[in-house]
Amino acid sequence: MAALVSERDREVLRGMMPELLSVLYGVSDLGRSFRCPSPDHDDSDPSAHYYARDCSVHCFGCGRTWDAFDLVGMHDGIDGFHEKAEAVAAYAGYRLEGSGGDSAPRRKPKPRPLFEFPKAAGAEDISDACVEAFGALYEPENEVGRRFLRWRGLDDADAARFGLGFARDPKAIMPQFRVYEPEALGYIVIPFWNRGFTEARYCMARTISRGALRNKEWRPKGVASPLYNEWMLSDALPVVYVTEGLIDAMALAKVTGKHVMALGGIGNAKRFAQVLYHTTARLRPSKVMVCMDEDAEGRKAAAKMASDLKEIGVRHVVLPPYPGGAKDADEWLCSMRGDAWDYEEIRQFGGDTCPLYVTRWRDGR
Ligand SMILES: [Zn+2]
Repeated sequence: MAALVSERDREVLRGMMPELLSVLYGVSDLGRSFRCPSPDHDDSDPSAHYYARDCSVHCFGCGRTWDAFDLVGMHDGIDGFHEKAEAVAAYAGYRLEGSGGDSAPRRKPKPRPLFEFPKAAGAEDISDACVEAFGALYEPENEVGRRFLRWRGLDDADAARFGLGFARDPKAIMPQFRVYEPEALGYIVIPFWNRGFTEARYCMARTISRGALRNKEWRPKGVASPLYNEWMLSDALPVVYVTEGLIDAMALAKVTGKHVMALGGIGNAKRFAQVLYHTTARLRPSKVMVCMDEDAEGRKAAAKMASDLKEIGVRHVVLPPYPGGAKDADEWLCSMRGDAWDYEEIRQFGGDTCPLYVTRWRDGR
């Protein structure tokens, strides 16, 4: 039996907008603008506001205005007023006056957080195989691996520091790899180690080749990718740098001596926000330096991440162009090959100061 909606119900439900915004969209601070609730509006720079005088929401981006009933109607795809009223009541935990008794089945609230809970990522622990791969890097017949790393600006000390490895076939490290790379001389194994290097549940494989490449980076099939050094998002660190690529993360860690993690592809920017959002505030980094590549895609990802970080409430800086016009951190590192830098301050980043230091470059050759 449909519940009756009295005039009083209607007024009470209209006033439930703050609860709705919180439950449906994770908006807790009504004093700040938030992302437009309309799914048709890709509102990267939050432009929706709450108006307490009439309990409405207005978006300055697309010009739409909603009251509580409109909002729930759009969210749940419901049309009729009674259905909307019941839905608002259910989300807000309010019992309609007109419903009398407790016979009416109550719709279960479906809270939808601002950022979904991150998917389980990685597979079984592969740390033993990764330790073996590290050893394999130093076998004379695998010299091509160390040569590849040195070419990317990473020496033996870096290989040890980041726990890299070498494999003839990535399948030996993680059975989920399906690699077909006829020209490959081998693969650099980049394990996703935990903080203490005791566990790795994922790795990427970079093809080493002199010939034509099908794919320079391989991932295990059917396994969701965690972020590289994802643990840095929940270790109460003062500053964490985030790059796009894994090698960039290593290069930047080497250049700055700071904590650097990587998305492992722009597609993982979403996971970055999800993990951060679902991490206890006191364990999040105090500040995040967003260091995407210097190209259109990288700049777009950086803007999205900055907006997510703002929403989550983490201080952040988007790194301005790298020195010397480098496309990414690794190119920057490589451009310094042969120079001796010794904790020289290169530049400071406007407003929110974060000096970058370059450590002495030790050429492994
Ligand atoms: Zn809008």
